[in-house]
Amino acid sequence: DEAIHSDSWCVRYRTELEDKYNRRLSITTELKRALASQQNELSMVYQPKIDLQTMKVCSMEALIRWNNSVLGFVPPDEFITIAEQAGLIEQVTTWVMKQTISDLAYFRGMGYGFTVAMNLSTQDIQNKVLLGKLVSLLTQEGLSPEALELEITESDLVADASLAIENLNELTARGFHFAIDDFGTGYSSLAYLKNLPVKTIKIDKSFILSLASDENDQQIVHTVLSLANVFNLKVVAEGVEDVASLEILKDWGCDIVQGYYISRPLSRSDLEDWLQNTPFGE
Ligand code: C2E
Ligand code: MG
Ligand code: MG
Ligand code: MG
Repeated sequence: DEAIHSDSWCVRYRTELEDKYNRRLSITTELKRALASQQNELSMVYQPKIDLQTMKVCSMEALIRWNNSVLGFVPPDEFITIAEQAGLIEQVTTWVMKQTISDLAYFRGMGYGFTVAMNLSTQDIQNKVLLGKLVSLLTQEGLSPEALELEITESDLVADASLAIENLNELTARGFHFAIDDFGTGYSSLAYLKNLPVKTIKIDKSFILSLASDENDQQIVHTVLSLANVFNLKVVAEGVEDVASLEILKDWGCDIVQGYYISRPLSRSDLEDWLQNTPFGE
């Protein structure tokens, strides 16, 4: 009886592994196809960030979306990780850069002054060819690096610190600005960040989503905000879903908020409409 039991456990475990493997394989295959085809499977959406002093839009975070005919909607958290492991991240980021910079130029052409924040993986930060492309895309559109912010996840940075610092310094010298994304999840400290050319941290949404009701989150966020003030860092809170959390963050000196309370991520044309109707417009 026990043998049967352990055998079925084994089978179930193996099936789970096979499922995971198959999912990974189809994501890799489909993503390769999506990158090569012209079928608009990939798209960019933009989520507004609001300056809490002026209550106006100051920036947009560019976020990739993928809708595949076989797999349906695949969340970026899932396929970006797989792209990194499958050697596809350079192609993905190239696609993101082209789209984002062209959309940024479009909005600048309409007279909007907001910056756009792009997410990069650590592999991207170490890829000189890719960074060269970034500079020439900006130049082609007549934009300066200051129009762009680059977000890097805290845990990536901590894992690859020595390599990353050199590249961050080089890019900073060229005029790029960096923000540390998902701050609070990567086991670094603000004192450590002081040695990096970073002026902005984004507090991870896991501390912000229930801020108005969770005392632990309040304590963490309050501490981060007071320390960030000491270190002269700008703080963005992501995942602001209600006005109560926004008010707390404002009281405690947070600089910028982003979240569903302001707006969900929007396609370029939806963003155009939103900008014309929002009380947070420039
Ligand atoms: P992230 O950079 O931390 O982006 C913020 C995520 O929080 C986004 O998820 C956004 O939709 C979500 N979010 C924003 N406000 C709220 C809110 O009020 N409530 C809730 N529940 N969620 C909110 P998304 O778009 O699914 O992206 C997930 C992650 O995938 C990103 O986290 C980023 O790490 C990665 N990612 C997305 N686009 C790109 C890209 O173009 N390149 C790279 N390398 N990574 C990307
Ligand atoms: Mg981000
Ligand atoms: Mg984040
Ligand atoms: Mg994240």
